[in-house]
Amino acid sequence: MDNQGRFDFFRYEDCTLCGDCLARCEYIDFSRDEAVEEVKGLIDGRPSRKLQKGCISCYACNAFCPQDCRPYELITRNWFERYKHKGLPVRASYLMPSSFPNFRTDVVKNMSAREQEMLRRWSNTPPEGELVLYPGCNLMTLPHLVDAGFMQGVTISGDWDLCCGEMFFRMGLFDAVERTARKLTEHYRGREIGKMLFTCPACLNMFRNVLPDQFGAEFSFETEYLGSYLLARMQESGQPARRLERKVTVHDSCHARILGDEVLKTSRDLFTWMGLEIKEMDHSGLQGYCCGAAAGCNRYSPFDIIFSAMRELWEAQKTGARDLALYCTGCQITLSLCSWLFPTLQPVRHMLEYLREATGEEVSHPAQGRTFHMLTNITYKALPKMLSPRHYRV
Ligand code: SF4
Ligand code: SF4
Repeated sequence: MDNQGRFDFFRYEDCTLCGDCLARCEYIDFSRDEAVEEVKGLIDGRPSRKLQKGCISCYACNAFCPQDCRPYELITRNWFERYKHKGLPVRASYLMPSSFPNFRTDVVKNMSAREQEMLRRWSNTPPEGELVLYPGCNLMTLPHLVDAGFMQGVTISGDWDLCCGEMFFRMGLFDAVERTARKLTEHYRGREIGKMLFTCPACLNMFRNVLPDQFGAEFSFETEYLGSYLLARMQESGQPARRLERKVTVHDSCHARILGDEVLKTSRDLFTWMGLEIKEMDHSGLQGYCCGAAAGCNRYSPFDIIFSAMRELWEAQKTGARDLALYCTGCQITLSLCSWLFPTLQPVRHMLEYLREATGEEVSHPAQGRTFHMLTNITYKALPKMLSPRHYRV
């Protein structure tokens, strides 16, 4: 079987050519008829220039499809073909989790001694126990988020080279995702894990759905969103130690749209339990905007990332809420980083930072400062490669 067949994930037999997937796209203006023609073109391997230029890889078309046909994978299938022939431009390498150092690992030296010690401990702890948390690259960039009493009883185990492969998946680097599935299967094989918890919806969706269903991974543990586990635990404990009487607007993650209420509603329920008042954006939930992290997957352009993030930061500002609240650590990194380029009066805060405050703990907010170091590193290490014609393979 050739690669195209092996990595062809669209469910052709279930597609009714209704056009919903693209007609509801928030980034490209397709009429219903155009959307239907575009899907036909994608099925025949002929995406239009409109799609090639405008898709920011937000992944929402999969959530829009009423038949669960995975239309997004018709788009990324073309990106995989492109990657097979040309590889990735070398300017992308510093942003990839497969490169060491990369924009995340380079900020470890800017962390507190306590956070650095947490990372060492996670790396040396075997993934075993009733409750194990998979940190993933994003939580490893902001370990302070789980330095909290509410994490007592949860074993945290992980390292930089145990990436879930989400970025490869979003870019259509399917052979790299397949290698990731094999590596993670081997890593967790035979381990006594009751339940694996995930802070990031992206890692949860990869472990629960994408890696097993599409790339052959085999995991014997149950998976759960950390927010669900914490909401149940907090509701059992009664009222928060400190009610956070303030108005926030909530940014939703791409993978949360796929996972549905388990993440979209649960996160809001946890914010509300803490006393936060939610002022929704014009576009939220299924129709919400991407933080911008995925926007570079199509054209490998940093400007696509920045403009997408600015769109979401502006959308949040229009609500007049005091803070921009989120629950995905990857979104926090992207929006905090881009807020240096599009200054906003709204601090970007993670659900776990609020929870520390609501449970009466001291709170720190290192993301803003840490992403300034990231921005500086990217400027010096990635931008000079912008004009390089060189390509490489992951
Ligand atoms: S991935 Fe997002 S931007 Fe791209 S076509 Fe689908 S809905 Fe539109
Ligand atoms: S992929 Fe789904 S939403 Fe898109 S045309 Fe087919 S059935 Fe409709």
